[in-house]
Amino acid sequence: MSLTLSRRGFLAGTAGFIALHPYSVQASQNQAHLRIMETTDLHVHVFPYDYYADREVDTVGLARTASLIGDIRAEATNSLLLDNGDFLQGNPMGDYIAYERGMKEGDTHPVINAMNALGFDASTLGNHEFNYGLDFLMKSVAGAGFPIVCANVAKKLGATPREDETLLPPYVIVDREITNGGGTVQPIRIGFIGFVPPQIMNWDRRHLEGNVMARDIVEAARAYIPQMREEGADLIIALSHSGIGTADHSDGMENASIPLAAVEGIDAVLTGHSHLVFPSDTYADFAGADVGAGTLMGIPAVMGGFWGSHMGLIDLMLEHDGGAWRVVSHTCEARPIYKRGEDRSITALVESDAAVLASVQKEHDETLEYVRRAVGKTDAPLHSYFALVADDPSVQIVSNAQTWYIDQMMKGTEHEGLPILSAAAPFKAGGRGGPDYYTDVEVGAVAIKNVADLYLYPNTVRAVRINGATVREWLERSATIFNQIEPGAEDAVLLNPEMPSYNFDVIDGVTYQIDLSQPARYNKDGEVIAPDAHRIINLQFDGKPIDEEQEFIIATNNYRAGGGGHFPGAGGDTTIFEGPDTNRDVIVRYIVEKGTINPKADANWTFAPMENTTVLFETGPAAAKHAANVSGVAIEEAGMSDSGFAQFRITL
Ligand code: MN
Ligand code: MG
Repeated sequence: MSLTLSRRGFLAGTAGFIALHPYSVQASQNQAHLRIMETTDLHVHVFPYDYYADREVDTVGLARTASLIGDIRAEATNSLLLDNGDFLQGNPMGDYIAYERGMKEGDTHPVINAMNALGFDASTLGNHEFNYGLDFLMKSVAGAGFPIVCANVAKKLGATPREDETLLPPYVIVDREITNGGGTVQPIRIGFIGFVPPQIMNWDRRHLEGNVMARDIVEAARAYIPQMREEGADLIIALSHSGIGTADHSDGMENASIPLAAVEGIDAVLTGHSHLVFPSDTYADFAGADVGAGTLMGIPAVMGGFWGSHMGLIDLMLEHDGGAWRVVSHTCEARPIYKRGEDRSITALVESDAAVLASVQKEHDETLEYVRRAVGKTDAPLHSYFALVADDPSVQIVSNAQTWYIDQMMKGTEHEGLPILSAAAPFKAGGRGGPDYYTDVEVGAVAIKNVADLYLYPNTVRAVRINGATVREWLERSATIFNQIEPGAEDAVLLNPEMPSYNFDVIDGVTYQIDLSQPARYNKDGEVIAPDAHRIINLQFDGKPIDEEQEFIIATNNYRAGGGGHFPGAGGDTTIFEGPDTNRDVIVRYIVEKGTINPKADANWTFAPMENTTVLFETGPAAAKHAANVSGVAIEEAGMSDSGFAQFRITL
């Protein structure tokens, strides 16, 4: 890492002239400019490719971030390249290596290969490194040509953190050379220490229980930082695979980067885990964070987005006081690989680095083959043509997977034993997407790329805890998608086109009917507009009328649990579990684990009968072949609409 440049401030780069960072220009004889580059939450994204959609994208990929590195290194006299964890899991390439190819002794994981090609200086473990088990993790990190540190995961806990037998080295101190402002090379000792959210013990309980233990992040830092100083570290960089949250420390907190920054002796904090950007306005109102200065508790900090979207940069001006190096000033930024236009169009700001692509070309090709090939089998056709009018297998599979996952996550918590329900909505269900915009997977093989069809958005799993009365209100909000139907009406229009299908949650685990003769109780903003109206009738749990006081867990996603769609009981304050996993990953795991899935819709909800009443609704023309097999409702074809949708009639 010693790159000596002309002091005129410019250097011929591949894209013309590159401006040196002011610190590299200004550094005097006893000063040196050190640039820290951070990637975080790569989640196996090396190629700029969305394997679920099976197409190239400009928003992800270490190959893109990497091509920033050349220019970024050229701007600074001295630089370090660091990764902040969550590199092994999170896209189909990660699943392919874990579930299909495996890691034999001596194999190198493709993302590690790419990181080796770029000459990373150090990394830490993220929570997702534990998803495939400890054996897979240890074989993967063994291939790294750079140290990987983690201070708060132990094979054996001691009386104090320093007496722990940690899984990986808690920290490393490396001896490097740094070029000062006078052009002279001087030694420097740099310490790297890493941290992961202790929540891994819940999230990956099945892999970790009895094998490792996790400690509080701040507790581990307080123990090791003084030891690193004693061992002569000039500079200590914390690799915090933890988000930026509250400034108040509490034992075992997940997003501990602010209290961590307050630990005496840390010179810079690399953060991550939240998949956000620091410095940015996102953190403007966080106590202890200064977005303008790029600091947490006064310490330089950065968060470089996720999936390779940004390169986080911390520039330090170091001064040698005769005894040791110390930081005298800093700048921070997160540099993106693409920009989003006002029309939401994406423009790539860099091209892919050919050497990085080449390092994983073989596994990329194998992953393409993997996503296009069967990983499981379905006994039921998975389509969404009738998802707005009947219980539906494409929604049922999502609920089956969510319930399976949340059941595991509740084990050992205070919520264990409460009934688990699941809320899921059809995402691809015509509407503005047009008459071909439906999920449609035939009976037989299910490929990974089909899962994107079943779950369109990269949401993460959450669970809320609400009572039976609120379950009913949630369903009332959901039922605003239907128009009020006059009893005896002939071919009344069923669906309100203003209401998007993704706000039509079906709740699985209870049974109910929807009485269309009633006006909608809620509007789309979640406001009660007809206080006396109730569309949800015969709501039952376990074959009996629901107990309004009974507590339930609802498996859902971050959008809904955080207030998306304004659902009663889902305003953020009822959340009891924020999963690290995407709903899509959970569906893939569920299919891989079960082998054959049979997501037969169980007709747990139906329309209440209305005498001599028929309604019309539109769906994709390809729906015709499935119309006879819809559970709990009588459907017949009723011609085509002008816009290319097929019309169907329901006799209520
Ligand atoms: Mn992550
Ligand atoms: Mg169902």
